[in-house]
Amino acid sequence: MHRSKAPDSSQMSSELVERIFIAGHRIAAADNPDAVLVAVKDAITGPQPNSAYPSVDHCLLSYTPSSSTTLFKVAAVWDRQPEQAPKVGGAYTDLPDQALEAILSGKTLVLQDLSDIHAQGYTIVAPSQFSLTRLSSLLLVPLIAQRQLVGLIALGSFRENAFTPLEIRILQIMADEVALWVSNAIKTQWARPVRVDGKPSQADAMTAANRMTLLAESAQAYLSLAADAVLITDPQQVILSANARAGNLFGYSQPELVGKQASVLIPPQRRSENESWARIALQQGIGLRGETECLTKDGRIFPAYVTLWPIKEGDTVIALVEMTLDVSKRQAQHTTLEGERDLLEAILEASNDAMLMVDSEFRVVSANLQFEAFFQLARFQILNQPVEALLERLRARPDLPAALTNLLLTFTADQQTSAAGELELGIKEVRFLVWYSTPVYDHGGQLRGRLFAFRDATREHEVDRMKTEFVSLVSHELRTPLTSVSGFVDFILQGDAGPLDPGVRAYLDIVKFNADRLISLINDILEISRLEGGRIKLKRDLQDPGTILDSALVAIQPTIEERKQTVAMHVSLGLPEVWIDKGRLTQAVTNLMANASKYTPHGGTITLEARVVVQRSDLPDDTPPEVKVPAVLIGVHDTGMGISEADQPKIFSQFYRTDEVVRQQISGSGLGLTIVKSFVELHGGQVWLSSKVSQGSSFYFTIPLLEGDYD
Ligand code: ADP
Repeated sequence: MHRSKAPDSSQMSSELVERIFIAGHRIAAADNPDAVLVAVKDAITGPQPNSAYPSVDHCLLSYTPSSSTTLFKVAAVWDRQPEQAPKVGGAYTDLPDQALEAILSGKTLVLQDLSDIHAQGYTIVAPSQFSLTRLSSLLLVPLIAQRQLVGLIALGSFRENAFTPLEIRILQIMADEVALWVSNAIKTQWARPVRVDGKPSQADAMTAANRMTLLAESAQAYLSLAADAVLITDPQQVILSANARAGNLFGYSQPELVGKQASVLIPPQRRSENESWARIALQQGIGLRGETECLTKDGRIFPAYVTLWPIKEGDTVIALVEMTLDVSKRQAQHTTLEGERDLLEAILEASNDAMLMVDSEFRVVSANLQFEAFFQLARFQILNQPVEALLERLRARPDLPAALTNLLLTFTADQQTSAAGELELGIKEVRFLVWYSTPVYDHGGQLRGRLFAFRDATREHEVDRMKTEFVSLVSHELRTPLTSVSGFVDFILQGDAGPLDPGVRAYLDIVKFNADRLISLINDILEISRLEGGRIKLKRDLQDPGTILDSALVAIQPTIEERKQTVAMHVSLGLPEVWIDKGRLTQAVTNLMANASKYTPHGGTITLEARVVVQRSDLPDDTPPEVKVPAVLIGVHDTGMGISEADQPKIFSQFYRTDEVVRQQISGSGLGLTIVKSFVELHGGQVWLSSKVSQGSSFYFTIPLLEGDYD
């Protein structure tokens, strides 16, 4: 047995009992209406609400003044926005019939969605200078003492559907206590609207015995809700009341238990231990809990976890609450459900990645420590709240990227797609986050919500940047001397250094060829590193797309001639001008033509085409569905070796070359197509191919057009 500290989750229900008892006690002992109201609020939310979003934003206690035209007068108010709250002493003016009827007949009124009523122009309860339009849920419980309406207690929340059945029930239980307090206060003419020193007289008016019964009655109502077996005993451990569960657990009927000595429920060998716990609880007024054994009516002994909670009046303990839990059962539950949940939570908390889970009703149900750290958002402010509330917080934070808000907006309601991407975050230092989002389904195929995960990729980004910088630096350093080698070889070949021996010329031709190959490889690497570093800015102007084909042809002409290939051009007349970087797109077409020539045998044919495509039917037959029209279509066809279906998806990757070209020792870097793809995509276009082995390949790309750019 140990002294009670903060209740753990497995003891939630006993914590609740304690809360209700303590609140009941505080109400009975209160000397002003504010204290009553705070006790009620604490009973519902706990004194330090551990629920991240307590439902109560507004509480109001009012009473029925004896000589007045108004039904209710405000006795005490607690409000999250005090400046908008009604004033103490203010009167309720108009109550809609619906509310009035319910209250007068002593019924609780639960309005979980006020928007309808607001829309009808109602103010539900309108004490002077006060409107409840801010509230989205409202709970009204009439206070009835000796069959008379003595007041009203109201709870409000800014959220819709804020109140749980348990909260409603707790308020109803508390209402009996409050009604008694109010009726006493009215009898004494509401003599002390403010705190006075000394003992409160309405508390004196009630005998300890009265209060005891009252507590037991209130408790009874709660006990029927409690999950555990609960007994209330007097200081001599005589059972005053028991809930149905206690009956079941110990094998007695409920009435049978009342009046019995609590020790009959403990096996003889544990009784002295049990009595000493009770003594500590009684004498020191502290709660205790621990493991023991219990005895059923038919003599069965079972292991149990018992909580003893003293109910005090002033310094004297007037009763003990005893909660008993069958431990064997709890252990089983713990290892399965709670154990799993604890483990999952611990894993989430320990994760380096930030995680956010939104349930299928678009509420934030989980956010881990790292989420808090990455985005500097306090979890208690967003947990259990609708996603919109989170979005609002994000929008109010200029240091967070709009991409984050957009990401949540786009995917929260998406039940199908998994998606991934990158975010740049600049809260204290610049960070790169890689995000991933996917819908979450349970084993039964039921949608449970959506997960958003964020991984800090700042380091990878940094390494990547350094690599790109390094490659670019080295390439520059290599290119300069090589250009000079190639230039001077040119000099010698032109005879500027004197007549050449044919044997030497042949060697120099090889030097020249390889030096140029190296230069073009280095140029490709430089281009790629610029692309990766995002350092390429297009220099666009209006151009006739036909001219890029012409320029590329000029560049490639010597190779074509050397390989005795034929070039056919099919360029439509009157192509619309396009807004492009001519140099970059010429480079793209040159790369495609160089490949067409390189991978087509001597004597083959290369065809160039350029035309406008307005509808999908204008596109070649096997065009992928994602290609967009209208556009200018550029095609480069060859009659060469072709590319197998397995290779086709890979050939746009950096350094990828097919086994076939490597086997045939055809020179190349595997960078040409990567550059083509990047340049085309920088223009908003798309690139694709269709090819058959041994028959030839067709490479296509588009340059997007706007409606009106073409006739
Ligand atoms: P490379 O410098 O190797 O030509 P690319 O990126 O331009 O690099 O092309 C990648 C690979 O795609 C080539 O190595 C080759 O295997 C294949 N390829 C590209 N174009 C053609 C083509 N027209 N016909 C056959 N294969 C091609």
